Amino acid sequence: VLKGTGSGALPPMLEQYVRMRDEVAAQLPHALLLFQVGDFYETFGEDAERAARLLGLALTHKSSRDFSTPMAGIPLRALDGHVERLLSAGVCVAVADQVEEPGSGLVERKVTQLLTPGTVTEERHLGADENYLAAVATGDGYALALLDVSTGEFRCAAFHTRLALYDELSRWRAREVLLAPELSGNAALLSDFQARFPVMLSPATFDEDAAQAELLTVLGEVSPELASAALRRACGAVLGYARVTQQGRLDMVRRVVRFEPGAHMRLPDAAVRALELFTAQSPQGRTLTDTLGHTRTAGGRRRLRAWLRAPLLDEVSIRARLDSVEALTRAPDLRGAARSLLYRAHDLERLAARVATRRATPREVASLARTLDLLPEAAALLDGQSGLLATVRTRLEGLPDVVTRIRAALVDEPPIRAGDGGLIRDGFHAGLDELRGAAIGHRAWLAELEVSERARTGIPSLKVGFNGVFGYYLEVTGAHLGKVPADYRQIATLKDRARFTRPDLREREREIARLDAASERLELEVFTDLRDSLAAHAEALSDAAGALSELDVLAALAEMAALGGWVRPVTTAGHTQLTQARHPVVEGSLGGRFVPNDVRLGEGQRTLLLTGPNMAGKSTYLRTAALCALLHQIGSFVPADRAELPVYDAIHTRIGASDDLAGGRSTFMVEMSELAAILHGATARSLVILDEIGRGTSTLDGLAIAQAALEHLHAAGAHTLFATHYFELTRLESDLPGLINLHVAAEEVQLENGAAGSGGLTFYHQVVPGAARQSYGVEVARLAGLPGAVTTRAARLLGALSVQGDDTRLRRELATLDLGRLTPMQALETLHRWQREL
Ligand code: ADP
Repeated sequence: VLKGTGSGALPPMLEQYVRMRDEVAAQLPHALLLFQVGDFYETFGEDAERAARLLGLALTHKSSRDFSTPMAGIPLRALDGHVERLLSAGVCVAVADQVEEPGSGLVERKVTQLLTPGTVTEERHLGADENYLAAVATGDGYALALLDVSTGEFRCAAFHTRLALYDELSRWRAREVLLAPELSGNAALLSDFQARFPVMLSPATFDEDAAQAELLTVLGEVSPELASAALRRACGAVLGYARVTQQGRLDMVRRVVRFEPGAHMRLPDAAVRALELFTAQSPQGRTLTDTLGHTRTAGGRRRLRAWLRAPLLDEVSIRARLDSVEALTRAPDLRGAARSLLYRAHDLERLAARVATRRATPREVASLARTLDLLPEAAALLDGQSGLLATVRTRLEGLPDVVTRIRAALVDEPPIRAGDGGLIRDGFHAGLDELRGAAIGHRAWLAELEVSERARTGIPSLKVGFNGVFGYYLEVTGAHLGKVPADYRQIATLKDRARFTRPDLREREREIARLDAASERLELEVFTDLRDSLAAHAEALSDAAGALSELDVLAALAEMAALGGWVRPVTTAGHTQLTQARHPVVEGSLGGRFVPNDVRLGEGQRTLLLTGPNMAGKSTYLRTAALCALLHQIGSFVPADRAELPVYDAIHTRIGASDDLAGGRSTFMVEMSELAAILHGATARSLVILDEIGRGTSTLDGLAIAQAALEHLHAAGAHTLFATHYFELTRLESDLPGLINLHVAAEEVQLENGAAGSGGLTFYHQVVPGAARQSYGVEVARLAGLPGAVTTRAARLLGALSVQGDDTRLRRELATLDLGRLTPMQALETLHRWQREL
């Protein structure tokens, strides 16, 4: 560890360091130990080199007579910032603090914090968003366990296929993943996993007996829902790992919820990215969460994200949410009152978890009280409501009165730390009042001392002062030194004055210090009791917190619906009919200039083939349809004048922009593997959005693949929206019943001189029936500023190529004509058509 030079024994402090580092390594193998030495956290040896590299620290050396090792440190004050950087670089951190005042010998130190990306609970290291630790095990299928240590939310699921597991794992965006040895030990699986999930992978125990023991310790039972060994091992692994990092305290985790992956719409990661639910594809872009972001609390924001990640399949639950959103949409006063109340709430889910683990600071307990104070008010607002809102109301009311207790005990603005005193109210605890009263008596005596001593000695400038070295003292300036009485004992001489003490002064001082220390201790005790009594209500607290978050999301969705003029969707048995639909995010940025469009999918029209020039609005149209479907299934209103939507089992997308160049796979390869997943996964109840399939390869290959994919989806019966620049595909309308050509209207404007191909192009963003006439590629190139000579030449070449294209088409059709079954009349008609087309 310390590749020092020299053979001598380690200095005692370094010995202590090495011992602690070994202890930490036994629990978190790659953690970096930050070791307090006075005003710095130091690292030594290899870790110093690592820390210097990761944090850009200066590397020095810790040397004694016959030993020297690298050393790098950060000031105590700068800990948070550095921890943040280490965690986001995927490095776990252990912090060892000095736990006694430095004396002559070796200072005692203790590991006070173990921090890993997926298990941090300190608000300052977390965004307000959720933070999952995940574990994956296999056996009979795959098992996933997910734990948010900061709120205690714990869930698990079993899967038959690896792809289904991946979908679910990307849905929850874990920050840290534990892989069972059967996965991490398989090089191919591991590298596939790492390519898909660039998150931190940490080692953990996946032993089945250990898992049983872990479940019993933390949850008190092995729930029968954990029916397979894989599920138990995954759950045991997250609990075991989290318990280590929380140094044994995992009280906020009370139960594990097994969820059915099939209970939610399938929303593969590609769709989450393409639809920009949580991250925009361009740096200035807005996400759907931003647009819907009318939530007022951190818990509400997390809940909204969870809803977006897991749209519902159950019509009854969708209707229940829609009913509540509608009720709130229709009652602007109620909505406004609820939202301004939520604005005053603190992050109750996290506070509840901090209370459960007995970690809450006095200030957090005060925030808890302030937030709990709002709950009866919130419940009263929901008086007379039905459905989900009524349930929310009951959950908000069900709390025992802990606020009065907190209020009675804590001062209004308590300090952050519990150990410094000044947090318990006068009159709350008799013993504490007594100690404080006594200290006040002594302080009053001191305060009067100056006046009485001035009178006794006749020295008008005599002062009582205090400093850290001497404690209380009496100060006399030079001119009056002669009048100093005999009971004064001189303790310091300054240039023009002297400082004295008196035996009774010393005594008072000691007494005050003793009383202060005693009341600090007692305050801590009183506070700890209070906190423990709150921990008993942790379950009720977190239930109320959940209700508050839910109310926040429902109110936010209603706010959005009211502001945006959105409409309540009607759930259908199979068809989609959107009238004047808008893309919620694009509309938000374009304001009134957005052109709404209709979308119809269903019997006789299940594949929409959309052609039109670049920049016409094809992608936007596709995404509008997908977003409306998604919004419907989270129970939201949708941006349209009228909306009828079925319950889709999945939304699949393949949209050109998400080229995984950084991942090292070629664009075409990425496109094809995403397409493969879609073709395997799409059912007759899926919505599929394909934008420019086949672009990454030669035209003929691309065209062939696009057509084959389209035919496959058509046969599968999925609702498909397909945007393409392959005009050849528009012919499919006559072969595939249910395939409809659409195009985005654009108009070429001839300029004065009338020269061929010198026109401009106007987009109307209006989607209309029929295939586009041509690709307008040359016009778009002109709009983009290509030199005139180049675009004119391109237009000519295009003319020639089109003729060739026609030739190929005619040949192909001729080759496939079934002459044996052609009537003379049909033959004539065909000839006639060809002649016309040429
Ligand atoms: P395409 O997929 O056809 O290349 P996009 O859908 O990416 O085109 O749209 C290009 C731009 O046109 C968008 O950035 C947006 O600003 C604008 N746009 C698209 N659809 C509309 C619409 N319905 N109304 C107004 N502007 C639109």
